Amino acid sequence: MKIAIKPLAVFATALTTVLFSNALLAETSNSQVLNLYSARHYQTDEALYNNFTKSTGIAIKRIELGDEALLERLRNEGSNSQADVVLLVDAARLWKMQIEGLVQPVQSKTLNERIPAQFRSKDGEWYGFSTRARVIVYNKASINPADVQNYEDLASPALKGKVCTRSGSHPYMLSLVGSLVENLGPEGAEKWAKAMVANMARPPKGGDTDQIKGVASGECGVALTNSYYWVRLLRSEKAEDKAIVSKVGFIWPNQQKQGAHINIAGGGVAKYAPHKEAAIKFLEYLSSNEAQTYFADGNNEWPVVKNVKPNNAALTSLGNYKADAISAQTLARNTVTAQRILDRVGYN
Ligand code: FE
Repeated sequence: MKIAIKPLAVFATALTTVLFSNALLAETSNSQVLNLYSARHYQTDEALYNNFTKSTGIAIKRIELGDEALLERLRNEGSNSQADVVLLVDAARLWKMQIEGLVQPVQSKTLNERIPAQFRSKDGEWYGFSTRARVIVYNKASINPADVQNYEDLASPALKGKVCTRSGSHPYMLSLVGSLVENLGPEGAEKWAKAMVANMARPPKGGDTDQIKGVASGECGVALTNSYYWVRLLRSEKAEDKAIVSKVGFIWPNQQKQGAHINIAGGGVAKYAPHKEAAIKFLEYLSSNEAQTYFADGNNEWPVVKNVKPNNAALTSLGNYKADAISAQTLARNTVTAQRILDRVGYN
C-alpha cells in the first residue's frame, strides 16, 4: 500500500505545485509587478516610484537593504531570486555585482543614448543614474586651503598627523584609489597611499560625515568626503550642523589637473529577473528627465543625463567643476589593484 500511495502523493504534490505556480504566474502577469532591490531610501523616491506605476501600470515591490546586505541576499537567493532590478551605490559595488554574475547584460537604445558611456558598463550589466564627487574638506582655522587643493597634496609630509579618511577597504576609498592608479600609475598610487597612512590624524574609522565632524572639531585638519554628505549638512536646519559647516571649508580637488574623482549610483537587471521587460522599462524610466531630477536629488547628487538640471539650491551653490573623465568601468576594474595597494601599505 505504502508503495502505491507514495507516487500518488508525489503526483498530488507536483500537481499542486504546478497549479500553484501557474496561479502565481497568472497573478503576476495580470497585476504587473516589478521587484526592486534597493540600497536607496530617500524621501523623493516615493514620487519616483509612484510616477513609474502611474505611467506604466507596473506596481513596484521594494526591498530596501544596505549595499552589502543586498549583494549578500542576491548571492543567497541564487536562481530563486525574485529580484528584477538592483540599485546600488559606487562603481566598485556595481562592478562586484557584475563579476559575481548577479546581473545580466541588457541592451536598450534609450539607455545607451541617454546615459553617457562614462557612466555605464560596456555591455549593459549596469547603468549609472546619478553622480557624486569625492571632495576635500578642511578646518578653516588650521589649514591654508592653498595647501590642500589636490588629492596628492594630502600625502604631503607637511600634513603629518592632520589627515582623516574612512577605511581604505570601503568602496568610496577603493574607487578613489582606482582613479589614482589610472592617473598616477600603480607605483604613484602606492606612494600616495603610503604617505596618506603616515599622515593620519587617527586610524581610519567612521563614515564620511564623521570625517567632516572630525575636521570641524579640529581632530582632523583635512579629510575626504563624498559631496552629498557635505550638501546634506549645508541643507540641515539643525544648529549643530550649522556650527559644523561654519568651521569647515570645501574644495573641488584637482581642478588644475584631471578633475575631481566622480562616481555613480546606479543599477542593473538581476540575473534571474522574473519580469525582465518591466525591469528594462524601469531603468529607462530612471533615465527620463523627470526621474533624473528625483533620483539625483534624493541624495543631493547630480543627474547623469546631459542638460537635466538639479532641483537643489544647496547643491547648485557648489558651482561647476571639472570632473575626472575616467569611466566608471575602469575605476571599478582598478579597485582590485587599489585593494592590493591599500593592504600592502596598511591603509585599513
Ligand atoms: Fe554614501
